[in-house]
Amino acid sequence: MSATATTQPIPTRPKSRVKAASRKLRELGIVGHALASTHHVVMAQIVPMRFCNLSCAYCNEYDKVSEPVPLDEMLRRIDHLARLGTSIITISGGEPLTHPDLDQIIARIRHHGRLAGMITNGYFLMPDRIERLNHAGLDHMQISIDNVQPDEISKKSLKVLDKKLQFLAQYAQFHININSVVGGGIKNPQDALTIGHRALELGFTSTIGIIHDGSGQLKPLGGEERRVYYEMTKLEKKNYSRFNHFQEAIANGEPNDWRCRAGSRYLYICEQGLVHYCSQQRGFPGTPLADYTHADLDREFLTEKTCAPNCTVSCVHQISYIDHWRAPQTRMTDPHGDHSDHTSDLINIEL
Ligand code: SF4
Ligand code: SF4
Repeated sequence: MSATATTQPIPTRPKSRVKAASRKLRELGIVGHALASTHHVVMAQIVPMRFCNLSCAYCNEYDKVSEPVPLDEMLRRIDHLARLGTSIITISGGEPLTHPDLDQIIARIRHHGRLAGMITNGYFLMPDRIERLNHAGLDHMQISIDNVQPDEISKKSLKVLDKKLQFLAQYAQFHININSVVGGGIKNPQDALTIGHRALELGFTSTIGIIHDGSGQLKPLGGEERRVYYEMTKLEKKNYSRFNHFQEAIANGEPNDWRCRAGSRYLYICEQGLVHYCSQQRGFPGTPLADYTHADLDREFLTEKTCAPNCTVSCVHQISYIDHWRAPQTRMTDPHGDHSDHTSDLINIEL
């Protein structure tokens, strides 16, 4: 690796291996439950904090003024997600590590026996903070790293974050995925390869996402971007093989043929506690989580979304893939939400 200091891989601690085995069993249980029944949410993304310490140029998911959602309200929202049978709850933002009560939120997810994930920019990770996340019961963490050197587009850089990654390799008992990106104004596509190699060297998994411009329209990747994208998919084949075709179509600027189960198998809960299809389709359905019912889940399961062919939200596609073989959709909706992209959507829970 050229731009950052390289260290030897840090061996996984025995306690981490035990936790990884137990996590894998729980994940298999989630897949089995999802295959057996369509009447529950498989994954929800929930925002406790719209504030972010960074200002990535492509992002519309943050501000600089919002207060954290109060803890008692967050706990109520977690309880509602449990009522809807949600298997995986992923905390995102803004920057979740700026929420003062994040550990209690994670602990509440685990109290309900659900898988707890989070998406962070990693800036606030120190050994004691990581230990607290271990103690709270965090299962998965994703960090998106956009470039090797910080620039005006993004400060989520390997140069800044490499020390944090070393802390994680040494202390974390949860699974860590490093997501790198191509497209969307990222200057050096080959940075994604440097980031991917570093992630694997430290014992993490590595994935790649594709960012688009603010219009949300699919645009094929350029020649160098495409070369890097395919090189990345070879890095650790098992991470990519299942869902390659979705990302490949995006890379080629081609529509995907799939059934989006957002609003049913996947929910996005904003900081105001409203249910949205995803971060790109805010306002649909826009129902308060407290009022969301299994009847809503059943309706949205069978509702075709006209934005599906050009959708770039790979986590919803991954969740929807579980049901691709059943229940053709019989209703249709035509949402016209905010189509700006956000790389944090690209969570990669290894199902
Ligand atoms: S992409 Fe993430 S780190 Fe960057 S501004 Fe948005 S929320 Fe903050
Ligand atoms: S943007 Fe994608 S994930 Fe969101 S509702 Fe449309 S098809 Fe589903």
